[in-house]
Amino acid sequence: MEEKRKKNLPTEPYGDLDLEMLRRFSEANGICGHEKGASRVMAEYLKDAADIIDYDNLGSLIACGKGTGGPSIALFGHLDEVGFLVKKIEDDGFVRIINVGGMWPHLLLAQEVTVTTRDGREYVGVISSPPPHGMPAEERAKVKQVEELFVDLGVNDADEVKALGIRVGDTITPRTEFRVLNNPNYLLGKAWDDRIGAAIATAVLRALRGVPHVADVYAVGTVQEEVGLRGAQTAGYAIHPDVAIALDVTLASDVPDSKYGTPLGSGVTLCLMDGSVICNRELVYIMEDLCNDLGISFVHDIFLRGGTDSGAIHKLFNGVLNMTISIPARAIHSHRAVIHRKDVVDTIMLLTEFCRRLDTDMVERIRCSNR
Ligand SMILES: [Zn+2]
Repeated sequence: MEEKRKKNLPTEPYGDLDLEMLRRFSEANGICGHEKGASRVMAEYLKDAADIIDYDNLGSLIACGKGTGGPSIALFGHLDEVGFLVKKIEDDGFVRIINVGGMWPHLLLAQEVTVTTRDGREYVGVISSPPPHGMPAEERAKVKQVEELFVDLGVNDADEVKALGIRVGDTITPRTEFRVLNNPNYLLGKAWDDRIGAAIATAVLRALRGVPHVADVYAVGTVQEEVGLRGAQTAGYAIHPDVAIALDVTLASDVPDSKYGTPLGSGVTLCLMDGSVICNRELVYIMEDLCNDLGISFVHDIFLRGGTDSGAIHKLFNGVLNMTISIPARAIHSHRAVIHRKDVVDTIMLLTEFCRRLDTDMVERIRCSNR
C-alpha cells in the first residue's frame, strides 16, 4: 500500500510555491523568546496582504485580512525554533551553552551555529567535538550532554569573545542553508518546526488578497511554543477567534524504523488528537469534505503525546473551535529537517478555500456539533 502510494508521488516540482519565501522563513534566526528575526520576515511577506499587522506583548505577530462582516478565523504557526543561549564564556574563549527547547545532544557535535549579539551582530561558531582517537569504548558509546558541550568561535581567548560583543544570554541558533533536494519536492532546512506553519498561514493570507471573503482571516506567528505554548495563549486571547487552526509539523512515518506520524507527500494531514487537544470533529469532517471537493488527498494523524498551539488555544475563553493541521517533517528538532512540497501546497490550497467559504452558518454548525 505504502509502496504503491509512493510511486504516485511527483518527480517534477508540485504546484506553485514561493521557495524564496520558504528560504527566508527557514534561515531566519529566532529561538524561543527571541523570535524577532522570524517575525520580521513574516511581517515583510504580509505587508501587502494584511489590513492590520500588530503584535501582542510577548511578540507574537497578528495579521488580519478583513472580511465583509463574518466570523473570525485564525491560522497559527509558531515562529520560535529550538536553540541555545550563551551560558558562560570560558577564559580560553570557548562558549558554554544552555538549551532553550528540546534538542537531543546526539545531534549537536560538529554542527555550525550562529551566535547573535544583543546589537544584532552575527558570528559563526561550531559545537566542538572531541576526536575519537584513543577515546575509551564506554566514552564513545555515551551521548554528551548539553552541559558538556562548548562552541568554538575560532578566537584566542575570552577577551576576543567580549571584543566581538558576545555576552552571557546571547542567542545561539542552528546554522543551515535552505536546499531543494534531488527530487525537487523534498525541501531541506532548519526550523521547519514551525516556520513552515507560519509560512503557510502567511501564504493563505497572501492568496486571499483581492478574493472576496466574509470572515476576518488572521495569520498568526506565535512565540515561545517550544517552551510551553506560551505565545498562543496570549495571541489567542488578543484575537478571540471563532475558529482557530494550529499548523505544525508532525513526525514523518516514511523513514526507516519510524513508528509514528504520516508519510511525506501525503497531501493534507488532519490531526484528530494529540497529547494536548482532541480536535473538533465537525471541523475535521468539514476539512475532509473540502479536500474531496478540491481533489486533495488527506491522511489522519493521531497521537497520545506531544502538543501544539492548539493545546493552549482551545481552552481560552469559553472554548475556541479548533483543530490542528500537520506537515510531516523528517528529523524535527535537528539542524536539518526535510519536508515535502506537496504537503505545503495542498495545505495552502485547502485553507485558502476554507477561509474563503467560512461564514456564520458554518461556525454555528461547528459550534452546535458538540451539543
Ligand atoms: Zn512545533
